[in-house]
Amino acid sequence: MIRNPQEIEKMRRAGRVVAEMIEKTRAAIRPGITTDDLDKVARAVIHERGARSNFLNYHGFPATICTSPNDMIVHGIPSKNCVLHEGDIISVDCGAIIEGYHGDAAYTAPVGEISKEARRLLEVTEASLWAGIEVMRVGNRLHDIGREVQRVAEAAGFSVVRKYVGHAIGTAMHEEPQVPNYWPGTPGPKLKVGNVYAIEPMVNVGEPDTIELDDGWSVMTKDGLLSAHFEHSIAITEDGPEVLTLP
Ligand code: MG
Ligand code: MG
Repeated sequence: MIRNPQEIEKMRRAGRVVAEMIEKTRAAIRPGITTDDLDKVARAVIHERGARSNFLNYHGFPATICTSPNDMIVHGIPSKNCVLHEGDIISVDCGAIIEGYHGDAAYTAPVGEISKEARRLLEVTEASLWAGIEVMRVGNRLHDIGREVQRVAEAAGFSVVRKYVGHAIGTAMHEEPQVPNYWPGTPGPKLKVGNVYAIEPMVNVGEPDTIELDDGWSVMTKDGLLSAHFEHSIAITEDGPEVLTLP
């Protein structure tokens, strides 16, 4: 899908709301806070900016953000019973709609002091996202993105989740085509000015295998080792990638 400049401008505005959700939830993270507290922070931003939530009621999802601690990869439901502790890592996925146009971004943050390995996982996962963004240029192909994500993650000894992937974004949060975070064996479509994609590597310390909990949402690493998740929504311009959700 090619988005025209007016559509991109609306996605910039949605992206700025998402960026503010990222900044404010990140600033609230500390030992003792619950993931429901973080959801309230995000909900307030959506309300203040006159935006709508694309997560709330999505296939029945009951909250404004996804909060996924430690060995939970994605799609965790915020809860008053989920208290964050010193040494945890917490993945927070945020989204918003402005005038029908969507933004989507995620980060993983430390809770207080974390282990050296956890710190390295966060750094490598974020670096893998930026390596993918860097090749989002006219003349390249869609699957060049995942090839770069995978290269960075695996060079650090980590693995990339296969089952959950990035996506085009626009008037819906999840549009076709999907964007794998690994090289799928074919180059995929050409990247064009006006394409907008949400790139979202999920990187595991151990194996890439996943399991889903009985709540129908929470996705965990099968081996119980840590996982991190970073995401931005990015428009391809004549001058290269424009990150719409940058705080
Ligand atoms: Mg997301
Ligand atoms: Mg996404």
